Amino acid sequence: MIDPSGSLSYDALRRLSFAAAGRLRSSHGIGPGDRVGVLCRNHRGFVLSAASLSLLGADAVLINTGFSPSQVASVVREHGLRLVVHDPEFPAPPSVAALVSSALSSGGPDVSLSPPARPGRTVVLTSGTTGVPKGARRPNPAGVGPLVSILDRLPVRTRSRLLIAAPLFHTWGYAALQLAFGLRSCVVLTPRFSPSSLVELAGRHRCDGLFAVPVMLSRLLDADCVLPPSVRVVAVSGSALPGSLATRFMDAHGEVLFNLYGSTEVSWASVATPSDLRASPASAGRPPRGTRVQILSASGAPVPAGVVGRIFVGNEMLFEGYSGDVPVSSHDGMLATGDLGFLSESGLLTVSGREDDMVISGGENVFPSSVEDLLAGLPGVREVAVVGVPDASYGQRLAAFVVLHESSSPLSADEVRDHVRQHGARFAVPRDVHFVPSLPRTATGKVIKRALL
Ligand code: ATP
Repeated sequence: MIDPSGSLSYDALRRLSFAAAGRLRSSHGIGPGDRVGVLCRNHRGFVLSAASLSLLGADAVLINTGFSPSQVASVVREHGLRLVVHDPEFPAPPSVAALVSSALSSGGPDVSLSPPARPGRTVVLTSGTTGVPKGARRPNPAGVGPLVSILDRLPVRTRSRLLIAAPLFHTWGYAALQLAFGLRSCVVLTPRFSPSSLVELAGRHRCDGLFAVPVMLSRLLDADCVLPPSVRVVAVSGSALPGSLATRFMDAHGEVLFNLYGSTEVSWASVATPSDLRASPASAGRPPRGTRVQILSASGAPVPAGVVGRIFVGNEMLFEGYSGDVPVSSHDGMLATGDLGFLSESGLLTVSGREDDMVISGGENVFPSSVEDLLAGLPGVREVAVVGVPDASYGQRLAAFVVLHESSSPLSADEVRDHVRQHGARFAVPRDVHFVPSLPRTATGKVIKRALL
């Protein structure tokens, strides 16, 4: 593993994990069943926290580094945390014991630990896109476990060199880390994303795979970055990949892009390969071996190809349940993802968006993502988010929030509307157009639409 403090062999990582576990046990009394928060960026401190807690049979609760102090405090309360391991830049709440992450990287005497009766779980918090983040409990399989099924659709092999830029506290970055370790790969971690540092690191360490979130691709394109030739796979997940971005990225960087669709609850559900993305740029691809994806109507009946319905997923990677009393919606061993979408005749999945995001304007259903995708293709537009706002006559009307490229000449609201009118449905034309300097986003790049309303 390589991070800004240097490189560690698998053996060294193992020894440090045992030393860290010894320290957590002797200085903080952490043992089986305890819950400990991890509030760290992508570096060895995160990895050693998660590994040592699992060795102790304790649960690691991964905390979003973008949370405010009061959000962190509510995670501490709701999950009954005994300790928080944190980077110094994120102060731990006063209500709980705290340990700075670097303290776990400094080694210590050899420790003998007998395996816990029940291996520690990882509690991954959902992004909170639809409300309060939920804590999803996941087992820590030995080795690559069921995650291996993804290799069916993602050409990453053992002993690769994989740069993980997606945040490790999010389900996507964490699953990428487990996969990379299971494949005995060299894992390159960077605590902060910038287009130039990503390209520099990937080149310096001859990385062949890059795990990122979609918004990072547009930052790489905006900065005119050139990926080193060693990179053969750029895998993105965590939020929707707009079709226009997929095409622009592959035009600039070649046939290296893979779009993984999934969630904290189901892990990954489908993968679009570069040829899937060329055939259908907004596609989320096909499920890997061992994963079922079904589209069901509101009454639970399967719908025909091309018809939008609720996306259900079944696989061996489903989570164990939420912490607390949060209901789970399931059907025939499959979980409801909360997303709507459709399958093509040839079995390609397209995710239309969150059930809660769909706008009904004058009786017509509009998916904001389809309008966002259209507007992303309008020259001068850098980013865009579309939401539904209450409307006295239509029930809801569409509002577009547009960020322009700094260098481009200004656009008018009418030009934005005309573009949609020319390329999309009449009822998809946003009546409100707001030009804004930036969009509020989660760590995986999802626009926080509630903050726009
Ligand atoms: P919460 O459940 O708290 O509202 P969330 O669902 O955003 O938050 P995550 O588990 O982080 O929490 O995100 C999963 C969701 O992200 C999916 O259900 C889907 O809406 C979206 N998503 C992830 N990957 C993709 C993708 N490749 N294409 C389209 N949507 C995606």
